[in-house]
Amino acid sequence: MLTPVLTDNWDQDRSWTLAAYEDRGGYSAARNALTMAPDDIISAVKDSGLRGRGGAGFPTGMKWGFIPQDNPKPKYLVVNADESEPGTCKDIPLMMASPHTLVEGVIISSYAIRANHAFIYIRGEVLHVIRRVQRAVQEAYLAGHLGKNIHGSGYDLDIVVHAGAGAYICGEETALLEGLEGRRGQPRLRPPFPAVAGLYASPTVINNVESIASVPSIIGNGADWFASMGTEKSKGFGIFSLSGHVTRPGQYEAPLGITLRQLIELAGGMREGHELKFWTPGGSSTPLLTPEHLDVPLDFEGVGAAGSMLGTRALQLFDETTCVVRAVLRWTEFYKHESCGKCTPCREGTWWLVQTLARLEDGEGSEADLDMLLDQCDNILGRSFCALGDGATSPISSSIKYFRDEYLAHLEHGGCPFDPAASTVFA
Ligand code: NAD
Ligand code: SF4
Repeated sequence: MLTPVLTDNWDQDRSWTLAAYEDRGGYSAARNALTMAPDDIISAVKDSGLRGRGGAGFPTGMKWGFIPQDNPKPKYLVVNADESEPGTCKDIPLMMASPHTLVEGVIISSYAIRANHAFIYIRGEVLHVIRRVQRAVQEAYLAGHLGKNIHGSGYDLDIVVHAGAGAYICGEETALLEGLEGRRGQPRLRPPFPAVAGLYASPTVINNVESIASVPSIIGNGADWFASMGTEKSKGFGIFSLSGHVTRPGQYEAPLGITLRQLIELAGGMREGHELKFWTPGGSSTPLLTPEHLDVPLDFEGVGAAGSMLGTRALQLFDETTCVVRAVLRWTEFYKHESCGKCTPCREGTWWLVQTLARLEDGEGSEADLDMLLDQCDNILGRSFCALGDGATSPISSSIKYFRDEYLAHLEHGGCPFDPAASTVFA
């Protein structure tokens, strides 16, 4: 059931070094790609069916194809390594264990879109990751994989590793560009999409770490190999991050379309003596699901049909000891804190959501607060400037849909009916 490709070398001794990476054939896909026509690489990525691994699932090859090649401005590749969604933990381990897979992917992808400058924008709090990727880039320069006339191909590429300043909103691609240009990280209006006017108003491809890191394996093994895995519209494999009340939390790389039931089995089951109560398929901004969804195929279509989103495949699992209201309150506090303040529905709305949820968690509200919460969500969803506002409402509306009785139990009990010590998360 597991398909270790990106995670294949994670257990190797000093897997993050150039020597270890090259021992396993690393950089051979880049050498091969530099002999290909750039458009053939774009076609291969289109044919593979690779869809963006940052959450939205936009077809990667199609995005590359949007870069206008008749535009005389320089083209840029930007890797979004600002992984910050609560529960999401795939890009950071990937960059720690195998930074050269990312660097090799950047070389191939930049060459394909005819960019001579690439940026890897890494979340500011993870200094150890920034240092590791910087070191890998340095090693790649010294070995001639980067810089001028790479391996005699006539192609030049420079990579800049940029440290963010620790704002969740800078994972939103246009806020990231603002940050990269030295301004306060707040989203820009789209369109124009970055592919048309991105960094310094030039055509820019922005892709997630895992998307770019998947490219060397597609070039190395062929588009058909990649497309042979996964489901009809969600091809290939992905890293599923399991956290919470599971016996062996961690990253499990598997074909898209695997189910949570299968992943829990691979992870040794739920913690002993406990049962799954609710879960997120792709981080806290994707609507909650319940045990009735254990057999939903974890691909873009399957999770969508179940009323949620595949998102970043950040599977957070909670057993019956966890208070859903408390969990949702914690996530909502996060969104309130991280709201960039640019638009009123999100800036004011997330504040109101926290007030209302906190009242309910303390058993001090009334049943009317539940309808007010849904009304507040309704005034944020679809009315916010970017996806942060929309995402903030997902755990709230879905938790009321599935656990309305638990909210009411707080009112009847005059406070939270759960023992915070029993749950090891959100205690
Ligand atoms: P989106 O669907 O608006 O866009 C996805 C990508 O496709 C973008 O790069 C966008 O530029 C491109 N695109 C879309 N339409 C286009 C067009 N017509 N022309 C050219 N390019 C086009 O999604 P988004 O708002 O960029 O991202 C939201 C997603 O981010 C959510 O699904 C969420 O799961 C995810 N997310 C991830 C994290 C994380 O830590 N990885 C954090 C928060 C949210
Ligand atoms: Fe900023 Fe929130 Fe508005 Fe996005 S939705 S622009 S994060 S205030």
